[in-house]
Amino acid sequence: MSDMLDPIDINGEPWQWPDGKWRAIVDKVRAGRSLKPERWNNGARVAVALSFDSDHETSTLRWGETSPGKLSQGQYGSRVSIPRIRSLLAKYSIPASFFVPVVVAKIHPDEQRALVEEGHEVGIHGWIHELNSKLPPGNERDIMMRAADELERISGARPVGMRTPSWDFSSSTLSICREMGLLYDSSMMADDEPYELLEDGEPTGLVELPVEWIKDDAVYFNMDRFSGLRPYTPPSAVLEIFKAEFDGARAEEGLFLLTMHPHIIGHRSRIAMLEELIRYIRSFPDVWFATHAEVAHYCKENA
Ligand SMILES: [Zn+2]
Repeated sequence: MSDMLDPIDINGEPWQWPDGKWRAIVDKVRAGRSLKPERWNNGARVAVALSFDSDHETSTLRWGETSPGKLSQGQYGSRVSIPRIRSLLAKYSIPASFFVPVVVAKIHPDEQRALVEEGHEVGIHGWIHELNSKLPPGNERDIMMRAADELERISGARPVGMRTPSWDFSSSTLSICREMGLLYDSSMMADDEPYELLEDGEPTGLVELPVEWIKDDAVYFNMDRFSGLRPYTPPSAVLEIFKAEFDGARAEEGLFLLTMHPHIIGHRSRIAMLEELIRYIRSFPDVWFATHAEVAHYCKENA
């Protein structure tokens, strides 16, 4: 592929691009073979992977903002929501994955250690929730390497997976993941089921556990206080969507992966909705609750 045009060099209008140019852009990061296994662990019919992106204060800091009011909304995520989430997961014996920016881990080191000690996973989520896809390649590589080291030092467990803060890749992200030997990424959207990531058409061995906005609490519960984008979606409506997504995953014997944010989902009306969702999922006898790392390992060994 070395004779391909540099996909970053997108001069010229798209309708003037030679085939090699748009093809190189499309092929840079692509879904390869499905890694959906024949059956899940212990014969389960559906795998359920709950994740919490612990953005906390970095929701503010990432934009260079310093507002104590906004920072307090992030602190709520650690101070109120994480204890609620931990006790909910403990009540139903469910392991989950927490994707944590390094700055959050440094502000709340005990939180990360406790999560790992309780059997949860802590994964990479950038340094300060920067827009990773906009970073110069050298900076991005340095940040990702140091993020893995810092999370290991703070949490006590070496991270094996990543969710990018932007839910996007730069043209270097995938090659950095490969160099780091990561097991999986969870930021792309080409399928409902796990798949192998291709780079420039080449299988990478890296597992993708796909996300989608439809399975993300933020899109339903975020608001802009200065525009008409309120009130919030009622939790009952979000429960209806999440239940239907789970039902579909179970019907297809696939993966139900949900992304949540502590400072969003941890409010009383919403944590009650999450508990109702968990009780609904647990009403089926054939469900495997697992961390993202466990799902990725299983897919790699059994697909
Ligand atoms: Zn995030």
